Parts: sequence; structure tokens; C-alpha cells
Amino acid sequence: MKRILITGGAGFLGSHLCDRFVKEGYHVMAMDNLITGDLRNIEHLFKLPNFEFYQHDVSKFIHVPGELHYILHFASPASPIDYLKIPIQTLKVGSLGIHNCLGLARVKNARVLIASTSEVYGDPQVHPQTEDYWGHVNPVGPRGVYDEAKRFQEAMTMAYHTYHGLETRIVRIFNTYGPRMRLNDGRVLPAFIGQALRGEDLTIFGDGSQTRSFCYVDDLVEGIYRLLLSDYPNPVNIGNPSEITIKEFAEEIIKLTGTDQKVVYKDLPKDDPKQRQPDITKAKEILGWEPKVDRAEGLKKTYEYFKNLPQERWFEEAK
Ligand code: NAD
Ligand code: UDP
Repeated sequence: MKRILITGGAGFLGSHLCDRFVKEGYHVMAMDNLITGDLRNIEHLFKLPNFEFYQHDVSKFIHVPGELHYILHFASPASPIDYLKIPIQTLKVGSLGIHNCLGLARVKNARVLIASTSEVYGDPQVHPQTEDYWGHVNPVGPRGVYDEAKRFQEAMTMAYHTYHGLETRIVRIFNTYGPRMRLNDGRVLPAFIGQALRGEDLTIFGDGSQTRSFCYVDDLVEGIYRLLLSDYPNPVNIGNPSEITIKEFAEEIIKLTGTDQKVVYKDLPKDDPKQRQPDITKAKEILGWEPKVDRAEGLKKTYEYFKNLPQERWFEEAK
């Protein structure tokens, strides 16, 4: 039985990856310090013999017993309001955290896949973004703590590949959504759906002309699964190229939820990227991957999930 360590396993993406690898017959070890994660995302796995949970901060020395074949490093705050609240921990998990994972991988002779991000492209001047674009990041701006941690993480991972011959993979994830996001994590989709459910106005930052491209979580997990098992060490974009302005996105959520609330405009956060769309040519060519779930279907499934949560969860305070 192949054994895999998933850091950030109690988070949104980490928990879906735990589900997928358990289903594929792996022995899954999830490690998380719960700083932005939630045990409710993985409690259904606790009774399984091929699942273990370690509550631990991966920025500190990591050890797991026994053989280890793969490590997925997904631990990191991911939402702008989270990483602005805990900037130092964000920098540490992207630097010390990956160093610990790579060290463990050398000892165990395991393959490492890291969760990088479209944020390595910053506020991009190339559109859509291809993997060979180096990005446009403000290192000392508010988002620098996340963007630079992820850029460092890529550099560290590539160095272990080049100098130690470690097997590594880098996925650059574009905005992904789905069940188990935290309604109060500040990202645009849970923000809008949470506001609709609570009967509040939807908050658009800036004039809403900025764009994003939203990928449904099942598609992302399939892309990550294929990349892990591929032999490709360079970064690969995984995301859905269907691009939309935030204003149009708010209109879609209003229609989907049937809310009679209106939109209100708030200040645009500093360094908020103006546009974002993945070029997925590489993923298509190397992994034979492309997204299957369109936004209408993905949003419907995600809304159903949030609507069916116990109502007190709609009102939970931000972590
Ligand atoms: P999330 O906040 O739901 O999950 C992150 C998890 O990491 C949480 O469970 C948190 O408790 C854990 N964590 C954070 N610091 C830790 C530490 N020091 N030690 C142990 N655990 C720690 O966010 P997510 O959306 O699931 O993101 C997961 C990963 O994917 C992150 O690395 C993020 O940067 C990356 N990513 C996500 C997206 C997206 O659209 N969701 C886009 C790009 C990249
Ligand atoms: N956004 C918004 N209203 C909100 C939350 C976010 O208009 O309540 C905007 C935000 O300014 C950004 C876009 O939606 O332009 C996506 O934001 P998110 O935090 O989801 O992700 P990221 O900026 O990291 O892509």
C-alpha cells in the first residue's frame, strides 16, 4: 500500500485530497495545526484504518513513522484575510514548512508535490498566464507575505530536485472553489454566498471589473492526482480558463441564490490583481487534463452544500 502525507489535510483542498487518496487505496496521513482548517472536513475519515491525523505545525520539525512514498505540501493560509492576519506564520510555512517536508522526503525517499499558486504571477502583465511568465509581485506589499513565500517554496523545491535529485512536482493552482470552504474565510465565493444566505448585501471590492477564473475542486484534485503520478518536475498551471469579472460573478450568485439583496461597493484592497486566467496548454499536453465542471454546475453544487449546513454555521465568526 502506498503511503502519502498531506500537510494542510484538514483544510479545504487538503481534505478533498485526503478523500481522493483514501479512495485510491493509499494509506493517508493528514497533518495540520488547524490554524485555518477544520476537523469537521475530515471527521468522516477518522474511522478508516488507512487514515491517520497528526495535529502538528509543519513549520516545526516533522516526522512520521514507517515508509512514506509521497508528500503533498498544502499547509498554508490561502485566503487574503487569513494571510494578512497571520503573515509571519504564512511566511514560515512556505519556507520552514517546505524545508521540513523536503528533508523528510530525502530521508524517506519520497516524492514531493507542492501547492503553489497563480499568485506567483502577482498582478500579471501577461494574460493569460503561462508557466514561463516570471510574474509581477510587490514583495513588500500586503500580499507579499503569501506570494513571496510561495515563490521561495518553488525555488527551494526546485533546488532539492536539481541538487539532491529529489522527485518533485509543482502545481500552480488558480482560484478553486467548492464544498468545505469556510463561509467566513473572506474569499469571494464564500463571501457572496454567505452574504446571500444571511440576507446581507454582496460586497464588491473596487468597481468589480477585475477578473478571476474559477475552478471546481473535483477538477483540481484530478489535475493534482495526474501531476503527482507524472514525471514532470516543472510548474504546471491547474485552473479553469473560463474568466469572469467580479461584478458578473456577483450577478451569477444573486441569480443562483434568489436573494433580493443588492451589491455594495467597498475599497479595492492594495495590490489586488486586475486580471487572472490560466493558460492550461501544458496541463492538456502533459497530463491530458482539462476541467470538466462548468461554473453553473460547480456553483450549484457548492451552493447546495452551504445551504444545507446547520444554519448556525452561516453565522460563525472568522477564525
Ligand atoms: P485552507 O486554509 O482551507 O487550508 C490550509 C490548511 O493548512 C488549513 O487546514 C490550515 O490549518 C493548514 N495549515 C496552515 N499552516 C499550517 C502549519 N504551519 N502547519 C500545519 N498546518 C497548517 O486553504 P486551501 O484553499 O485549502 O489551500 C490549501 C493550499 O492550496 C494552500 O497551500 C494554498 O496556498 C494553496 N492554494 C489554494 C488555492 C485555492 O483557490 N483554494 C489557490 C492557490 C493555492
Ligand atoms: N472580492 C470582492 N468581494 C469580497 C471578497 C473578494 O469583490 O467580498 C474580490 C477581491 O478583491 C478579488 C476577487 O474578489 O478581486 C477574488 O478575491 P479572493 O479573495 O477570492 O481571491 P484572490 O484575490 O486571492 O484571487
